[in-house]
Amino acid sequence: MEGYKPGKECALCRGRCCREKGCSLSPEDMKKELKKSIRQKDIACLPENELSERILVMLKDPEGLYAIDHFSTESGPFFYLRMRHKCYTFVGIDAIGECVALTEEGCTLPEERRPMGGRFLESNEKMQCVQHYTREMMREDWKPYQKILSYIFEEYERKFQEDGTFDRCDAAYFDWMKSQREKNR
Ligand code: SF4
Ligand code: SF4
Repeated sequence: MEGYKPGKECALCRGRCCREKGCSLSPEDMKKELKKSIRQKDIACLPENELSERILVMLKDPEGLYAIDHFSTESGPFFYLRMRHKCYTFVGIDAIGECVALTEEGCTLPEERRPMGGRFLESNEKMQCVQHYTREMMREDWKPYQKILSYIFEEYERKFQEDGTFDRCDAAYFDWMKSQREKNR
């Protein structure tokens, strides 16, 4: 596996990183997922509108694992994909939440399928874990996809705000957290 294996301390902390936020994909992670549904064509040859459509189909899968999120830069929001959060959709807002792939037994994804941000988080005994897939690297990697991701994000953010989807997600996440607290009492 390319990256860092989880250390002994990961079993002790039981995935603090994964409970705070889903790990970030690189475009290569995204392409690996897209390749499952694109056999006949090389992704690199797809015209932009078709690539955008493929990404949207992948994101809208109700069993899907991914969401679009963004961080702030001097020139505005910068978009990328990360693991989706429990109870939430493929549009990441107020992006704090527990990754859909995390269970009590740890990450359910095989190591080679974990996104770059998970594989390149190096744990250490003092729990000062170091992220080697940096914002700078993400900005370089995701630059070619800004138009596609911002278009999808803005369209569905508006839609989900208007139809109450975000409110329902918040309520579902609140109930889920409550049930977890009761279970752990
Ligand atoms: S990488 Fe760090 S925060 Fe994440 S599970 Fe391991 S020790 Fe915990
Ligand atoms: S995919 Fe696995 S490593 Fe990444 S945040 Fe989710 S549970 Fe953690």
